[in-house]
Amino acid sequence: MLSVQNIDKSFDSLQVIQDLSFEVKDGEFVAIIGPSGSGKSTLFQLIGGVSSIDKGAILLDGTDIQQKRGTIGYMPQQPCLLPWRTILENVTIVEELQQKPNVELAKEWLAKVGLASFINAYPNELSGGMQQRVSFIRAIVSDKPILCLDEPFSALDEFTRLEMQAWLLSIWEKYRKSILFVTHSIEEALFLADRIIVLSKRPATIKQEIIVPFARPRQEEIRHSETFTA
Ligand code: ATP
Ligand code: MG
Repeated sequence: MLSVQNIDKSFDSLQVIQDLSFEVKDGEFVAIIGPSGSGKSTLFQLIGGVSSIDKGAILLDGTDIQQKRGTIGYMPQQPCLLPWRTILENVTIVEELQQKPNVELAKEWLAKVGLASFINAYPNELSGGMQQRVSFIRAIVSDKPILCLDEPFSALDEFTRLEMQAWLLSIWEKYRKSILFVTHSIEEALFLADRIIVLSKRPATIKQEIIVPFARPRQEEIRHSETFTA
């Protein structure tokens, strides 16, 4: 279980997060929404371990998140690809550091999202939406039990977004990872998440929590209903 406990974060005199607490159970699918500038990306940087809190604690199964950095698949809002590395290398770099790059799986996922012919290209040869897909694949291929995805589909066209949402849902269905994602789309939050955390405007603290009040169709139910219709 991920436990965010009474955290504060400021940049100089600007308080961005104030006394924020929530929990995410294993296998939960949680959306974070809130006004632009409210502190959502700052929160994900803290959970992703790339920035540190001023006060409070972020614990994963009771241990400080900074000691568990290898367990979170963090996708930042901006793709942050290494310009001197190929697309395939960018996807496998996290595992390369841990000496277990899964090159075949990376290729398979890049092909699924339409980037098979770009594996040896460099990031500056890709559009913003393509780079976002690479960043998404990097987070999911690393096979972490928790995924933290900051606006994962914001730069995509409507068709690609629907396809990527379906991929994310299928990953959740199959592996039951804990998934947290930021979105500005209420529709996307309702479609994907079990629970929606609504942040206040800055400094971010919880304004409301919404349990999505209807059962999201599971993959097997979709398949079943298709068979039934046919
Ligand atoms: P958006 O929906 O637009 O992505 P957000 O909720 O993700 O917004 P953040 O990026 O977390 O918002 O920014 C929250 C506030 O913190 C903003 O006022 C921003 O200017 C400020 N901020 C973020 N990072 C830094 C930084 N490294 N140094 C100083 N201020 C920062
Ligand atoms: Mg943001």
